[in-house]
This record gives sequence, structure tokens and C-alpha cells, in this order.
Amino acid sequence: MSISIAIDGPAGAGKSTIARKLAEKLGYIYVDTGAMYRAMGCYFSGLGVKKEDAEAMRRLCGQADIEIRYEQGVQQVILNGENVNDQIRTEEAGLMASACAKIKEVREKLVNLQRALAAKADVVMDGRDIGTYVLPDADLKIYLTASVQVRAQRRYRELMEKKEPCSLSEVEQDIIARDEQDMNRQISPLRQAKDAVLLDSSDLTVEQVLEKMCRLAESAGARI
Ligand code: C5P
Repeated sequence: MSISIAIDGPAGAGKSTIARKLAEKLGYIYVDTGAMYRAMGCYFSGLGVKKEDAEAMRRLCGQADIEIRYEQGVQQVILNGENVNDQIRTEEAGLMASACAKIKEVREKLVNLQRALAAKADVVMDGRDIGTYVLPDADLKIYLTASVQVRAQRRYRELMEKKEPCSLSEVEQDIIARDEQDMNRQISPLRQAKDAVLLDSSDLTVEQVLEKMCRLAESAGARI
């Protein structure tokens, strides 16, 4: 039986940074499920579909072929034969991902892919509904959060490093908008699973959060 660790939480809580490092330490595969929703968002944007057009998303999502590959341990998202890893990291792609993540057909398609990956290998998987829906029997569930201000600051710094033009208040507004969509949608809203450990990273460094997670993983049976 493969081991799975589920990490959920709101945008900018540090999930992907920490999940990637934890997977490295454990020798597991890191599955970034947000990247799959982002790829789907890019697919719709490329077709000129508007964020509000749920009907078009429902109709067209069957034609999006999303595949996950690993190159030197790094997840690559392939959308209809094209590697879209670099295109999916913009603010716009994040908002489009959040819009299409409300659609049942989109979620079903991506959840199947996520479960198939977890069935094949030991994984650290991060997202919004991993502990509550995708992997309800995960060996360890963590809900990683931080205050809106801290999350906005971190995201702003990331975007500045990538030289993406933005303002801190814009980034904060985007985070609030995404929280609102992700926590209040009808299907698989972002929630802390009953059996998830809550970790607030507002006042912790990446290393401190990683250390806590390693201890939790060990108690759940993982070998470090
Ligand atoms: O984690 P990331 O910010 O890349 O995710 C982008 C969007 O994809 C989220 O705001 C959320 O709406 C959606 N998502 C989701 N379920 C997941 C992962 C991401 O709904 N498991």
C-alpha cells in the first residue's frame, strides 16, 4: 500500500513550497493539484472562454487532455501535448483556475487523475480538497494556513522576483477573492478535514514549518 500525505489550505499559505520540500525529504512524489486546475484555466483562456461562462467550461472540458510527468522529480503539466508549466503561474491563471474549479465536470476529471497518481506511488499531494475528498484515507492530513496579510506579502514577493508587475493591494484583493470562491463553492469547498492537523505558518519560517511536518509524517509512519 502506498503512503499519502494530504496538505490543504488557502492560496499563499506556502503549501507548494513546503509540500515539495517534504516530498524531497521523504523520497515521495509531489503532486501539485492546483497546477492541474491552472492548466485547465489556461485551456479555457486560450479558447476565449470567460470566467463566468460555466456552460462553455462544462461543454469543453472533455476535450482538454491533461497529463502529469516528472522530470528530475519536478512535476510537469502537459496540456494537449504542450508543456504549460511556465504559463500557469500568473495571477490571471490562478483566478481562472479558481473559476473553473467550481465546475463539477472539471473536478471529476482532475480528481480521477489525482487518485490514479496516489494509487501508484507514495505522494505528498497539496490542494484544497485532498483531505476532505480526493484522499479521505490519507495517512496524514495537514491544513496549512496563514493570515491574509502574510499570504499577500509572500505572493507579492514571489511575483516581484519573477518581475510580474503588480501591487500589494491588488495581490491582497486577489487572495481574498480566491478564498471567497474556494471556501464558498458548492462542490468540494476548501475546509479543514475533521482529522487534519492545523498549522498556521504566519509566524514561522519555511524551515520551521517543514520541521513540524517531518515530525508529523514520522508519527504517521513515514521514514525520514
Ligand atoms: O494551489 P493553487 O493556487 O495553484 O490553485 C489554483 C486554484 O485551483 C485554487 O484557487 C482553487 O480554486 C483550485 N484548486 C481546487 N482544488 C484543488 C487545488 C486547486 O479547487 N485541489
